[in-house]
Amino acid sequence: MSHRLSLRFQYDGTVMNPKTLLEEYDILPRKSLGQNFLHDPNMLDKIVSIADLTKNDLVLEVGPGTGLLTERLAQASKEVTSIEVDERLQPVLAEIVANHPNLSIRYQDILTLDINKLYAGLAYIVVANLPYYITSAIIKHLLESDHPPTRLVLTMQMEVAERMIAKPDDMSILSVSVQFFGRPQIAARLKPSVFWPRPEVDSAVVRIDTYDKPQVDVPDTKTFFRVVRAGFGQKRKQLKNALSSGLALDADTANALFDAAKIDSRRRAETLSLEDWATLTRAYISIKP
Ligand code: SAM
Repeated sequence: MSHRLSLRFQYDGTVMNPKTLLEEYDILPRKSLGQNFLHDPNMLDKIVSIADLTKNDLVLEVGPGTGLLTERLAQASKEVTSIEVDERLQPVLAEIVANHPNLSIRYQDILTLDINKLYAGLAYIVVANLPYYITSAIIKHLLESDHPPTRLVLTMQMEVAERMIAKPDDMSILSVSVQFFGRPQIAARLKPSVFWPRPEVDSAVVRIDTYDKPQVDVPDTKTFFRVVRAGFGQKRKQLKNALSSGLALDADTANALFDAAKIDSRRRAETLSLEDWATLTRAYISIKP
């Protein structure tokens, strides 16, 4: 099917909203791909302003969709690379690519993107209205890569945003992992009505500024996350039981670990701060046979 180049625009010169635009192309949004398109121009502008972009910045966007955010990102930055898994959107996005020489779109799953290869040591910023079904996997892929972004501005479910910024007593693997790499803040709140189709939940824009180096002192990141995963492995269990089974420690070694860390073994994982996890990691490394 061929389409005239001006299909994105209405007769009054404004850009079509995602619903009308996709109808023109006979494309139905796929729930399984988290396709809830943001159509509110004020909110789209706000996301770009939260990202604080300059003409020197390289931007990685996950899931351009119909390209309303993508176009704004291309106008505000030096270069944008957008990763979209749904090839049906190719004709919809082609016109934006044609109008913005600093924009390139790759049709692939973000989880298969080799970030190190794409940016090869260059600083970059991630901006994305995330597909909610893989929020955590995408954040893990970006933050735990060998070359994490300097900043992330991510739209996600409010409930996930709140878990991400949690403090000791309400911590989870998600909050420990994100806060290990950077400082997350909720920068805006979004009602379901700013999306089409409407999601069933409220959303939030979270800005995460990543640290040049971790804020806590751990000799080895892999071991830190092994200890954290073991600690959270058995919900509502005391740390001693969780770590004994997660790290396969016998009773004497587990006692030695908590003595060395000076942390009460009856505490539960959600009460620990990042500093506590770092202390436990150092103690674990020191007592490991
Ligand atoms: N950026 C658009 C907006 O603001 O309206 C669309 C956001 S929509 C919530 C999520 C987008 O991510 C969709 O375009 C969807 O096709 C895409 N997507 C879903 N899974 C993906 C994946 N694994 N890799 C890359 N893109 C994906």
